[in-house]
Amino acid sequence: MQGKAVVVFSGGQDSTTCLFWAMQNFDEVIAVTFDYGQRHKLEIECAKEIAGELGVEHHILDMALLNQLAPNALTRDDIPVQAGEDGALPNTFVEGRNMLFLTFAGVLAKVKGAKHIVTGVCETDFSGYPDCRDVFIKSLNVTMNLAMNYDFVIHTPLMWIDKAETWALADQLGRLDYVREKTLTCYNGIKGDGCGECPACILRRNGLEKYLTQKTEN
Ligand code: ZN
Repeated sequence: MQGKAVVVFSGGQDSTTCLFWAMQNFDEVIAVTFDYGQRHKLEIECAKEIAGELGVEHHILDMALLNQLAPNALTRDDIPVQAGEDGALPNTFVEGRNMLFLTFAGVLAKVKGAKHIVTGVCETDFSGYPDCRDVFIKSLNVTMNLAMNYDFVIHTPLMWIDKAETWALADQLGRLDYVREKTLTCYNGIKGDGCGECPACILRRNGLEKYLTQKTEN
C-alpha cells in the first residue's frame, strides 16, 4: 500500500507491532499517543523512546479530559486493577476510549494529509470492550468519512488474531525481540516481560509461550 498512515500508538505490544506493520506497508508513518493521565507515565516514555529510535514522527495529544469523565483503574493509583467477573467489564475499561482516540487520530491524519489510520484493536481476546469490535470500527470509518468529507481507511491488522499470532506477526516483521524488550503492557508499569502477575502480563506471556512452542514444533 502506498501513502501516509497515522498509527494509534501506546508503546504497548499491540500498537508497536502495528507500527512496524505500518512501516512495512506505507511510504510514510506518523505515530500518535494519547496522554489521558495513565497510571504509568512510563507508557508515554516508552512510546516516545520507540518512536525516536525508529525515526517516526510522533505526536502526543493531551486527553486528560478522559480521566475527568471516567476515573478508573488505568488512570487512578487508588483503584486496583480487577478482572471482570460474570461477564462484567474489567475495571480498566474507559468508556468510549477507542471512539475518541480514533476520531482524534482522524483529525490529525487529515491535517497531515494521511488517509490511512492504523489501530491495534482486536476482537479475538475480547474483554467485552464494545468499541474494539470490527462492526464498530467499520461504522466509525463511515461516520468519520462523512464528518470530515474525506476517504479515511481504518486498518486493524490485529482484529482477528490472538496474542500468539500477534507475536508471530512481530516475528514475521523481524521485530519479535524488539517488541518483547521495548514495549510496556504491564499494569504495574514494568517494561518488557513485566511483573508476570497482572492480567495484561499473563495474557502477553501465554501468547508468547504458545507462539514459541508452535515455532519450535514446526
Ligand atoms: Zn504485569
